[in-house]
Amino acid sequence: HEAKSTSSGLVTLTAAEIAPPSDRVRLLGELRRALENDELVVFFQPQVEVTTGALCGVEALVRWQHPRHGLLLPGSFLHVAENTALVGPLTSRVLDLACAQMQTWSAAGRDISVAVNLSARSLYDRRLVHQVRTSLDRYSVAPGRLRLEVTESAVMHDPRRALAVLTELADDGIPLSLDDFGTGFSSMSHLRMVPARELKIDRSFVRDMVREPDDAVLVRSTVDLAHNLGLAVVAEGVEDEQTLRQLERLGCDVMQGYHIGRPMRVDEFEDWLEARAPVHSSEVPA
Ligand code: C2E
Ligand code: MG
Ligand code: MG
Ligand code: MG
Repeated sequence: HEAKSTSSGLVTLTAAEIAPPSDRVRLLGELRRALENDELVVFFQPQVEVTTGALCGVEALVRWQHPRHGLLLPGSFLHVAENTALVGPLTSRVLDLACAQMQTWSAAGRDISVAVNLSARSLYDRRLVHQVRTSLDRYSVAPGRLRLEVTESAVMHDPRRALAVLTELADDGIPLSLDDFGTGFSSMSHLRMVPARELKIDRSFVRDMVREPDDAVLVRSTVDLAHNLGLAVVAEGVEDEQTLRQLERLGCDVMQGYHIGRPMRVDEFEDWLEARAPVHSSEVPA
């Protein structure tokens, strides 16, 4: 299982700790109840332009406010939902939370774009396109404000089907991002067909790029590839100033990481925003 990052004092249980095989069924039941009781929340992590530091948008990252275990990271429960009928309602809930927040921000004069992650399962769920449209309509959000992140491995599971769904979403005007880019084995010919607007370079390449020349080469090549295809590049997992500087030299467009801001509850995020941009300064529309 993935290593758990701690942010904002999260309780970090591993999947095995809360879900040994015998407990999977119980966990599923709890998750179902969690959806009914509104225990799922989203945190927002800022994404900023590398050269100016201007806010481009935020990524919505789901957390489970568990009544006994505290705040759980997606690594400890998403995989349980993934192979069940719960993934649909979960995706739908996150979409609603993201769109509701965009509507609230718009009403306050802030047009902030929110990116939502799509799991592999939901990408192949026939109801996805309808769910996305329903959330946008319900909260009067323009399709261009929502962004959807899909991983290349999710796309590669069944490229033909994935491309049909992604094309439908892109035709609605929703910008798509290829998440965790570089970690999957994708064929360039398939990638070329994905109607994405941006690539997100996986944290595993960004993390050590200052110390590891090979990683720096991979980041540089990805930036060049993306730009040559007319796509923007987002670096995830930027944890220090040297990495930021190097990304700037390599021409990376947008970055995200603890060095800029951790995933935060909405009120914390708004404080973060206030602290770096005085109220009267105009915001760059996403
Ligand atoms: P991801 O989409 O690649 O999201 C980035 C992950 O890296 C997040 O972990 C974020 O907290 C973490 N991160 C961001 N900056 C840094 C950094 O500078 N250093 C380090 N060490 N980590 C950083 P998180 O929130 O635990 O989410 C993990 C994964 O769970 C996400 O990876 C995404 O694949 C999935 N996920 C999160 N929310 C949702 C959701 O609402 N729906 C679906 N389907 N998947 C989600
Ligand atoms: Mg993501
Ligand atoms: Mg990512
Ligand atoms: Mg990643």
